[in-house]
Amino acid sequence: MEFRSPEFQPRAVHALHDANLQKALGKARGGFVEKRAQCAAELPEFEALRDTAAEIKNHVLANLDHYLEKYEAAVTAAGGHVHWAKDAEEARAIILGICKKANAKRITKGKSMVSEEMSLNEALIGEGYEVVETDLGEYIIQLADEPPSHIIAPAVHKTKEQVADLFAAAHNKPRITDRAALVAEAREVLREKYFDAEVGITGGNFLVAETGSSVIVTNEGNGDLTQTLARVHIVTSGIERVIPTLDDLSVFLRVLARSATGQETETYTTLSTGPRREGDVDGPEEYHVVLLDNGRSKMLGTRFQDMLRCIRCGACMNHCPVYGSIGGHAYGWVYPGPMGSVLTPLIKGMDGTYDLPNACTLNGRCQSVCPVRIPLPDLLREIRHKQFREERTPKRQKQALKLWRYAAERPALYHFAERLGVRILAGMAKGKGALRRLPFDPGWTGARDLPAPEGRTFIDQWQAQRGDK
Ligand code: SF4
Repeated sequence: MEFRSPEFQPRAVHALHDANLQKALGKARGGFVEKRAQCAAELPEFEALRDTAAEIKNHVLANLDHYLEKYEAAVTAAGGHVHWAKDAEEARAIILGICKKANAKRITKGKSMVSEEMSLNEALIGEGYEVVETDLGEYIIQLADEPPSHIIAPAVHKTKEQVADLFAAAHNKPRITDRAALVAEAREVLREKYFDAEVGITGGNFLVAETGSSVIVTNEGNGDLTQTLARVHIVTSGIERVIPTLDDLSVFLRVLARSATGQETETYTTLSTGPRREGDVDGPEEYHVVLLDNGRSKMLGTRFQDMLRCIRCGACMNHCPVYGSIGGHAYGWVYPGPMGSVLTPLIKGMDGTYDLPNACTLNGRCQSVCPVRIPLPDLLREIRHKQFREERTPKRQKQALKLWRYAAERPALYHFAERLGVRILAGMAKGKGALRRLPFDPGWTGARDLPAPEGRTFIDQWQAQRGDK
C-alpha cells in the first residue's frame, strides 16, 4: 500500500470537506459505539476479561520466541509450513514463490491488514495473477481502486449510493440501491470465483501455539470459502498474533467481537490446522503460514512493547473524535486512528509521520475501550517526545514551548500574562460569547469558534470555587 502519511494535513482538510465521507462516517460512528457499550454492559465479567486478555498478551510478549517456536513445531507436525519474513519485501517474495509453485492464475483473498502492510495485491497483480478480494468491504474498495479506510470495515467511508455505482459499472447490471440486494449481487459474483482459485490467502486473527491452528473471525463466511476451496492456503500474520492455548483463545474471542462490532460473537470463527488430512471432506492440499516481523521485534523490550498486544479490533478508531471526523485515508497508510498513529511511525519510521501522533487530542477514549488495555495516549506522547529529542518538532512550536516554560517558571509573570490574555480575548469577543477568528492562530478557528473567556482565568475560577479567594 502506498505510503501517503506525509500528506496527512491536506488529506485531512480534504476529508473534512468531503460530503459523502462525512455522511458515511456519521452513520458508522454511532452504530459501533452504541453497540459496543451495550454489549460490554451486558457482560458482567467484561472488564475482568480485558485484564486477562492484556495479561495473556504480556506473558506471550515476554516469551515470544518460545511461543513462536512452539507454534512452528505444531504447524509442521500437522503437515503445514511456516515461513519467516523479516520485512514486507521478504514476505512478498515468499508468497510469490508459493503462488508460482502452485501454478496459480487466480488468487482469492480474505481480509488481511498484514497483506496490506506487504503491498501484496500490487505485487501479485504485477506478476499477472488475478486477485479477488472476497470480504465485501475489501471487494468494494478493490472495485474503487482504493486502500481500506478502517481495519475491520474497509469500505466504511463509502455510502450505499457509491457502492451502487461501483457495482453497476463492474457487474454490468442495472443499478440497485437496496442494501440486501447489493449484498446478494456481490455474493453471486464472488461465489464462482472461489471454485477456480488455486491459492486462497487469509489473515490470522490468532495463532494458537499448542495446536498450530490459525484462527479467523468473519461475519460473511468468505474466509472459510477462501481457505477451504483453494488448493493452497496461505495465512499471513504478524509474529505478535501467537497465543498459548485454546483456553486463551476463548478469552480473546469474548472481547474481540464485543469491542469491534458490538456483537457477542462474530458469525464465523474458524480454526485451520494444517492441510487436508486423509478422510477430510475438504480443505487445502498445502497449508503455509507467512509470519511477518516488519519492525515488531524491535518494539520488544521498549516502551512501545505494549502496542504489540493489539488484536486489531478497531475500537480505538471507532471512538476517536479525530478519526470520526476525517476517516482512515487521511492517515495515509494501512493502520489509521490512534493505533495507527503509534504503529505507523514505529513501522515506517519517523520521516513523514510527524503529524500522526500530533493530530491526537489526548482525550483518552481509545484507551478506555481498548480490549487489551493499551495505553495509547501515553504511547502517542512517547512518540512526540521521541520527535522532540530527534529535533523534528517545528521551530515555531519549540519557541512557543520555550516561551511557555519561561513564564511557567515565574508564577507571578505567568498569572499576570494569563489575566491579561483572558481580558484581551473577552474584550475581543465583545459580549458575543465566542471568537470566530484568532488573529495569532487563524488555523485553530478555521473550523470552529473559540468560546470567549468570562474575564477570569481558570485558576481564579478554581480558587474561587474552593473558597481560597
Ligand atoms: S489498539 Fe486496542 S482498541 Fe485499537 S485496534 Fe488495537 S486492540 Fe483494538
